[in-house]
Amino acid sequence: MSEREIHHDQDVKRIDFGIEVIKRKLNTPEGWEWCKWKHIEPDGNLYEGGVPGVKKSGKHKGGKNWRGVPLQSCIVLTSEIEAEKAAWSSRTGKCGTCQGHGDVWAGTNFVTGMIRYRACSKCGGTGAAAHKEAP
Ligand SMILES: [Zn+2]
Repeated sequence: MSEREIHHDQDVKRIDFGIEVIKRKLNTPEGWEWCKWKHIEPDGNLYEGGVPGVKKSGKHKGGKNWRGVPLQSCIVLTSEIEAEKAAWSSRTGKCGTCQGHGDVWAGTNFVTGMIRYRACSKCGGTGAAAHKEAP
């Protein structure tokens, strides 16, 4: 598989393993999403989020309203994301890096709205989980 481009409207949403870690750690309610993100040295990320309300008026009517929403914070380490990815991979039999799609994000062009993907180097574009060599 070589590089391909797809318009973001057709893009398939992929799992954010960092968010999966947060959901489990905080036991987040339905509709929870993060609204702030910050890198923590050396290898963690701090997320803050909650369940946003809906704007009832104004030009952003119908959009997310974070005003007054109580925020929960959660630190997610790179190692936790890797563990989540590995668990998902062994559960599904798919490559955790590309989530079985065979390709990974390689760039976004906000002018044209096109997203570029390139072949996943982890599985060689097959999308299958890497199997350990038989002894
Ligand atoms: Zn892959």
